[in-house]
Amino acid sequence: MATSLAPKVHNNFIGGEWLESKSGKAIENINPANTAEVVGIFPASDAHDVGHAVDAAQEAFKSWRLTPAPKRAEILYRAAELLVTRKEDYSRDMTREMGKVLAETRGDTQEAIDMTYLMAGEGRRLFGKTTPSELPNKFAMSVRTPVGVTGLITPWNFPIAIPSWKIMPALVAGNTVVIKPAEDTPLSTLNLAQALDEAGLPAGVLNVVFGDGPMAGAALLNNEGVHLVSFTGSTEVGRLVSEACAPSFKKCHLEMGGKNIIIVMDDANIDLAVDGAVWGGFGTTGQRCTAASRVAVHKKVYGEFVEKFTARVKALKVGDGLDPTNEMGPSINEQQLKTVMKYVEIGKEEGAKLVTGGRRLDSGAYARGWFHEPTVFTDCDPGMRIAQEEIFGPVVSVIPFDTFERALEIANGVKYGLSASIYTRNVNLAFQAQRDLETGIVYVNAPTIGAETHLPFGGIKNTGNGHRESGEAALDFYTEWKTVYVDYSDRLQRAQIDNAE
Ligand code: NAD
Repeated sequence: MATSLAPKVHNNFIGGEWLESKSGKAIENINPANTAEVVGIFPASDAHDVGHAVDAAQEAFKSWRLTPAPKRAEILYRAAELLVTRKEDYSRDMTREMGKVLAETRGDTQEAIDMTYLMAGEGRRLFGKTTPSELPNKFAMSVRTPVGVTGLITPWNFPIAIPSWKIMPALVAGNTVVIKPAEDTPLSTLNLAQALDEAGLPAGVLNVVFGDGPMAGAALLNNEGVHLVSFTGSTEVGRLVSEACAPSFKKCHLEMGGKNIIIVMDDANIDLAVDGAVWGGFGTTGQRCTAASRVAVHKKVYGEFVEKFTARVKALKVGDGLDPTNEMGPSINEQQLKTVMKYVEIGKEEGAKLVTGGRRLDSGAYARGWFHEPTVFTDCDPGMRIAQEEIFGPVVSVIPFDTFERALEIANGVKYGLSASIYTRNVNLAFQAQRDLETGIVYVNAPTIGAETHLPFGGIKNTGNGHRESGEAALDFYTEWKTVYVDYSDRLQRAQIDNAE
């Protein structure tokens, strides 16, 4: 059973209370598999609501930063336990608001559970370093301190996992949070906030402000009380976020688009590579930042790969994600579907060979949602727009190549740098590839998707700006280093001068 079956009117979560937006405006949360279903009605918040939430977060920061980290962590631990008991309900809610199949929304919720446990564990670590001083009778150490009020802006494709990647490290490190989730998937963030509230998080430590990007999101970026911003979304909006953060020097983390590749060498296990390309390309309807939207295949095995891959893609069952027999859900909304359809036309015009798919699915029950056929273009030139630009839908471009060096050139010849994969049994090539691929994540004999929460996650080039989510790396973003020197010599000691001889 989902937790909310009828359209329910929801409020913002500010200072520990569920409050109506001052804007009086609302956004309908629509099921993309059945657009007649309104999953819930959420506030379209404005700068006033955001300001109220930031004030609450500033007030709560005074005591939260002084709460011992192991005590903060206990609340996270209890929240993780609640998420475990509610995994099925929250996953069903997520499929209704986002469309991906239940097996995947369960994985999304599991990722939030994993992240919450992981960060609960960090409460008893948050290690700094001690080191010898260059002077006698002097002690030197570095400690992690919280940054302050964090402003988090999240996309719709991982509706509970991505908020958890940001909220959990922020909280355990002693920061307070104002989060603005994507307008298409507000319910999952509400569910996460509910679990943290029930786990005993003090009022104002986590605040949720629903609304759209240009209004609520921009208000968060421009609020002087916010010290740190973490954004996941498109590269276009990421650039705006970066610009908005610059004048007031907000610490800013951007995780943006991708055009990820699977390289299939001539010695690869082809069946395994086909499995990986189907999952990597069409999991989450291709709407993953790490989606394998390009597959480069060695000419010696090109024919075999294309034949097997096309057959598997043709057989994918598309439909409502709540039906466990379906393997691929709809696009998130009408605009995203139109983007997919536009790129199919571009691919045809560019001369790529459409071997399966290519059309919107709109007969029978499909007519109620934003469904599109899983689509494969072959014989793509790496410079084509369908092989360069992020489509964020169920469209894969297959590119032939004849040498390993050429495969690397193709892989690195895009503006993004998130994830890449190589299928080969040659250990030398595998190690060269992991060294030379210009991405933040590399897989060997596995698709481009499948991140685990205890390892750094993020990209380079136009995908990221040098920070990482997940694991210990997340703590580097959500804390400031403070360096402390304690001189117990009882005399003035001058570094670089008194010990120079
Ligand atoms: P989007 O950029 O349209 O929106 C992301 C968030 O930004 C939403 O909450 C939105 O409301 C907000 N926003 C939009 N305009 C804003 C503005 N002017 N000021 C402040 N906030 C604003 O992205 P999306 O469509 O939600 O998500 C898809 C994109 O996210 C894809 O490009 C995908 O690759 C990327 N993504 C990246 C990662 C990663 O870790 N690299 C993970 C998931 C998704």
